[in-house]
Amino acid sequence: MPHFLTTDADDFETRFTALLGMKREDSPDVDATVAAIIAEVRDRGDAAVIDYTSKFDRLDLTPETLAFSKAEIAAEIARVPAAERAALELAAERIRTYHARQMPVMEERWTEASGAELGWRWSPVSAAGLYVPGGLASYPSSVLMNAIPAKVAGVERLVVVCPTPGGAVNPLVLLAADIAGVDTVYRIGGAQAVAALAYGTATIAPVDKITGPGNAFVAAAKRRVFGRVGIDMIAGPSEILVIADETANPDWVALDLLSQAEHDQSAQALILTPDAGFAKAVTAAVEKRLETLERRAIAGASWRDFGAVIVTRDLAEAARLSNRVAPEHLELCVADPEALSAQITHAGAIFLGQWTPEAIGDYVGGPNHVLPTARSARFSSGLSVMDFLKRTTLAKMTPEALRAIGPAAETLAISESLQAHGLSVRARLDALNEKGTE
Ligand code: NAD
Repeated sequence: MPHFLTTDADDFETRFTALLGMKREDSPDVDATVAAIIAEVRDRGDAAVIDYTSKFDRLDLTPETLAFSKAEIAAEIARVPAAERAALELAAERIRTYHARQMPVMEERWTEASGAELGWRWSPVSAAGLYVPGGLASYPSSVLMNAIPAKVAGVERLVVVCPTPGGAVNPLVLLAADIAGVDTVYRIGGAQAVAALAYGTATIAPVDKITGPGNAFVAAAKRRVFGRVGIDMIAGPSEILVIADETANPDWVALDLLSQAEHDQSAQALILTPDAGFAKAVTAAVEKRLETLERRAIAGASWRDFGAVIVTRDLAEAARLSNRVAPEHLELCVADPEALSAQITHAGAIFLGQWTPEAIGDYVGGPNHVLPTARSARFSSGLSVMDFLKRTTLAKMTPEALRAIGPAAETLAISESLQAHGLSVRARLDALNEKGTE
């Protein structure tokens, strides 16, 4: 049974706080191993990448076979059934269209009364590397969600690293990379792949930004190379919070909760409702669906250990509690989802109304499915084109503008004891004064 809370119980605050603070992930301390792998790759380049791939993925490569050839990719892609190809293409098109709308005005510029021109300009990172986990955890949808925003942002060179244990490859991953416009796919993974992307080897050119999920080794490596390159985020186990009223369908809500619980036994599914009868119906529906779900061992463990049913006084209270959770995914299965949505301040993604199962967002909705977890939606957002853009500020003074604001700069420079700073302004002001008195 999941945790069961009612907001009018005396111990509610204690239990809710405990729920928020629950440690769901058992992250092994792999930092020393990862530090050694990164140092080896920096030192020995391709040779180290090849050695680690042989050791961890049981795959013997040469510098020439680190990347898939065009012929290999074509042969793998040809194996993908037409229905899956069509679904991926639809998903890609919708993700592309959505992310194109996120693009900012590329250059903003204005002239002040002083004559100074100010502004900023956006430009894409030159090269990005996308980590795609190997084995069972490789999701073609994640390839699209990471690669398409990069392409839309204008990233020139986009590469994928994906371990292929024993040489096994998921053709859908290669197809997704192809559809998204990825330039090269390397069959390497783990900390060695992250190090190769960050520092480069003779064969693998370094990138500027690394995105994408992975296991503890990959996460530790991304943390370590941050600063040398940019990274997206360190994603934790998935979460869903559903706010529902009596108009929702308990079986649909149960399936939505299970759709996240089946990801991982550390995933968390929460349902908040003011209707105690509905809470009961959802709990029963989850148990019923678990009987036949293929991944019932994983989903059942997640629901039992981290799932919770919370009965609130009203929907407004449910919204306030949801804001304290700041969930990765928030479903509003209520009669008036727009009104409730207006009360939501912290959530990675909101799904409005009962016709919007979260799974639509995982695949074909259009918005990105790489979202902030572990309450980080309080201060961060899902992956977007902005992750692949950076802003350069612009300033252009005229003599009049410098005359107007330069003396204040000089004063501040002197107060900070930065003489050359002050003089760089003073020299120009003196030149202007001389000119003015000629
Ligand atoms: P992975 O690609 O993340 O890791 C495989 C690599 O780990 C291997 O190539 C190897 O280099 C390295 N490795 C394994 N054991 C090692 C050891 N003892 N020492 C040093 N390196 C070692 O694939 P995975 O392991 O299947 O993990 C996939 C992860 O990605 C899971 O944790 C899953 O939860 C996560 N995931 C997250 C999302 C998301 O959106 N958040 C999506 C898909 C997968």
